[in-house]
Amino acid sequence: MEFTDEQVTRYSRHILLPEVGGKGQKKIAKAKILIIGAGGLGSPAAFYLAAAGIGTIGLIDSDAVDLSNLQRQIIHYTPDVGRSKVLSAKEKIQALNPDVTVVMHEERFVADNALKLVADYDVVIDGVDNFPAKFLINDACFFAKKTLISGSIFRFEGQLASIKPHEGFPCYRCLYPEPPPAGLVPNCQEAGVLGVLAGTIGVLQAAEAIKEILKVGDTLADKLLIYDALDMKFRKVSRPRDPNCRLCGPHPTITNLSGDYAVSCAI
Ligand SMILES: [Zn+2]
Repeated sequence: MEFTDEQVTRYSRHILLPEVGGKGQKKIAKAKILIIGAGGLGSPAAFYLAAAGIGTIGLIDSDAVDLSNLQRQIIHYTPDVGRSKVLSAKEKIQALNPDVTVVMHEERFVADNALKLVADYDVVIDGVDNFPAKFLINDACFFAKKTLISGSIFRFEGQLASIKPHEGFPCYRCLYPEPPPAGLVPNCQEAGVLGVLAGTIGVLQAAEAIKEILKVGDTLADKLLIYDALDMKFRKVSRPRDPNCRLCGPHPTITNLSGDYAVSCAI
């Protein structure tokens, strides 16, 4: 695989970096990244991954664009209200970078299709806004041995972690064993969220995904990054393996995706 002159120009600021170079840019061009949720986190992540020249970006979402999404879901524009989110996102990605192949999965990510959906990708980005879906994504990536870049946002606070138990690091359940009871934690719709925060965390997810593709730098594989936008503070806390983890521990009780991942409307 050789780059055209136009591609050498497009990716020149990457190619100049010793940590990327032409070799790294080719890895990026071959990479396949799945973004689950074309919303607040998925929008900035998809834009930057497209600009970076990721070869294939898969997008999963079954929703249509709502006017209230536009405060943070920057891949969708005002005329997109009422249109399919994955189609709206695909159009913007291809306008930004026609090198990228966009695969549209206009469906919900559920236990029945989870393993099939993640199978074709190298890295998965969690851009969903509810706990049952986060646990399903974690479990599916665990069974499929896919690196997961987990992100979440709530009011003014964001969290970020890279999840790769197949390389000996903790899974998401090592930190949060079970979803909180329905109704305990409100979602963005109920609690509100600073729009810019979605951009901050989504872009950090894109950065971690590219580092995973390039195998460079220090990742968040055993740490949790917590960002407080009100205090403008970033904290990295240690995230050890749980020796009794129900999923990745030595005596797992979760051995397939047959558990209860139903999204309660109260969450
Ligand atoms: Zn675990």
